[in-house]
Amino acid sequence: MHARAVEAAPAHLTSAHATLTLWEALTSTVPAARGAVVLTARGTVADVASACDAPLAASAAAALDELRERSGPTLATVLGCPTCGQVLDVPLDLRALADSAQSAHDESDPLERRVACASGEVVVRAPTTSDVLDAITSSDPARHLRERCETWPPGAGTTDDDLAQVARAADDLTGLAAATVRASCPGCGQDVTADVDVVDLLTDQVTEQARTLLADVAELAAAYGWSQDAVLAMTPVRRRAYLDLVRAEW
Ligand SMILES: [Zn+2]
Repeated sequence: MHARAVEAAPAHLTSAHATLTLWEALTSTVPAARGAVVLTARGTVADVASACDAPLAASAAAALDELRERSGPTLATVLGCPTCGQVLDVPLDLRALADSAQSAHDESDPLERRVACASGEVVVRAPTTSDVLDAITSSDPARHLRERCETWPPGAGTTDDDLAQVARAADDLTGLAAATVRASCPGCGQDVTADVDVVDLLTDQVTEQARTLLADVAELAAAYGWSQDAVLAMTPVRRRAYLDLVRAEW
């Protein structure tokens, strides 16, 4: 028996179709479930239902991997300074972000923490997309999410120290899904901290790439009458060359 080469579509073709498919899946899903869509699109889990039961940290890690493949090691982001209003350009180091998430989980269970309190042990479970989808329908989503993910000993009295330890465990389990970025404002000198939602950043990036592809298809279809599939099947270099011809820039 001889090994046979598997016939595969050229990388640029897979990539153009994959971008449009991922864009459609992300933008037709509620924001809270987009991380589960990314996990499914990358083949990490079999279907969206299973992905909804995976930890948010896993969805965020999958979104970060996808973002790094599409954007390279650094992503340009902007923050508004809450003190003086200046807009700050903040290059986000995606590799450092991935490394920090990885080291946080290297030596501990990514699904559960057990926190010892004076009156017993509190079990804290990693929140999932299903937990968030359930919580956002309640009047107090943050409290509802905590109640779903924390199991306290019956009749336990709680101290501020207990609450702080449990909150730290919950933050740790949320991992990359609760990442932040810090910068110093050149206008007023204040430190500015902002949440980093990697699934949102990925959605923005994929939307931008899909719009560019669709605009290329529309322009070449209008000029030459070619079909969408014919335009997407071209290498990016050839597509660019035809666009330059249409715009008389070549
Ligand atoms: Zn400022």
